[in-house]
Amino acid sequence: MSNFLLITGASQLLTLRGRAPRRGSALADLGIIRNGALLVRDGKIAAVGARAKIEALPEATAAEKMNLGGRVVLPGFVDSHTHLIHAASRAEEYEMKIAGASYEDIARKGGGILNSVKKLRAATSDALKQRAHRALRQFAAYGTTTIEAKSGYGLDLSSELKILRMHKELAAEQSLDIVSTFLGAHLVPPEYRRALSGTKGYIELLTEQLIPEVAQEKLAEFCDVFCDRGAFTLAQSNQVLEAGKRHGLAPRVHAEQLKHTGATKLGVKLGAASCDHLEQVNSRDIAALAKSQTVATLLPGCDFHLGLKQYAPARKLIDAGTIVALATDYNPGTSPTVSMPLILSLACSQLRMTPAEAITAATINAAYALRRDDRIGSLGVGKFADLAVFDVADYREIPYYFGVNTCWMTIKRGVTVYAADKATI
Ligand SMILES: [Zn+2]
Repeated sequence: MSNFLLITGASQLLTLRGRAPRRGSALADLGIIRNGALLVRDGKIAAVGARAKIEALPEATAAEKMNLGGRVVLPGFVDSHTHLIHAASRAEEYEMKIAGASYEDIARKGGGILNSVKKLRAATSDALKQRAHRALRQFAAYGTTTIEAKSGYGLDLSSELKILRMHKELAAEQSLDIVSTFLGAHLVPPEYRRALSGTKGYIELLTEQLIPEVAQEKLAEFCDVFCDRGAFTLAQSNQVLEAGKRHGLAPRVHAEQLKHTGATKLGVKLGAASCDHLEQVNSRDIAALAKSQTVATLLPGCDFHLGLKQYAPARKLIDAGTIVALATDYNPGTSPTVSMPLILSLACSQLRMTPAEAITAATINAAYALRRDDRIGSLGVGKFADLAVFDVADYREIPYYFGVNTCWMTIKRGVTVYAADKATI
């Protein structure tokens, strides 16, 4: 039997090929091939182009055939910001927020991140894993083929290591790729808030014990910090990210979400892979990002869920030449969604990005944010055959239909991992 797979029947094949990352007007260039086809071998793309050309290749004759029936095909989404592992929803806080409580009001009552920390520490590994597996199946069902996953709901040595080890186990147990990020600096845990050593003591735990251990066991590629009001200051964030860098963990930053802190400039200075959120970003931050290789990752799901009016200034960021990416920020407190198509809808209607810009931000630019643009995020020869197939006639219908899952099939390294017809979730 041939180990080639010939995929035809793509009314629009969005290749996203060309230079990466994309800035400015290049975000709108999807590299569309009408009536496109792909030849896949051993999970990688062997050829891509117009159907007639690909079908005429000698390897195509004996290849296994898959016809997509005129649907739209694009690279599988790369969700470059998630908090995958957590124990439970925070639906009770959702109701409080609707009634008018602020994020900080809830945090003061022991809610917020610390609520998730309490629940995670009390949960069994089996329960955590089962919940994560279910989420991963759902990610696949919305066309996502790679996710980043952060720790940060453990906030002690054993719980943080448990989460990061679980990222590795989950990656081995199912098909989607999981890129691990250490977010020990999510918040200062209660036991340190009460202790004399306080935040300083917790930062010592992070920089002197956890980060070296994480690096030694190769449990994460990135080190992230929640630099914001009520979390970590700029100086503390710098300390943690510098320690991460010394141990080979590339920085990423939760920046300018609730309050402007200067975290974006810090991220740029440290060569961070991405600065994420950016609702409160100012024109100087935008200029600094535009001159850098640091990706501006926007998380509109978070603002939507919290009912906030101020979204990140995507238009200004794109027009200035910043590398813009989009992600779900899947987490139980502020963005409980795994749906990248919904994020695209929000990016279009709230951030005023065009459908093409939003797709670029959720594929090749997101892959760049995870330092994987050489393997994923576009459909070119030699790249992984990670595909999302949508049951629409035009790619613009992907964000246009909101709250409706039009994902028809998801393929990871040439293997179907989700098919709407056979959906069991
Ligand atoms: Zn986050």
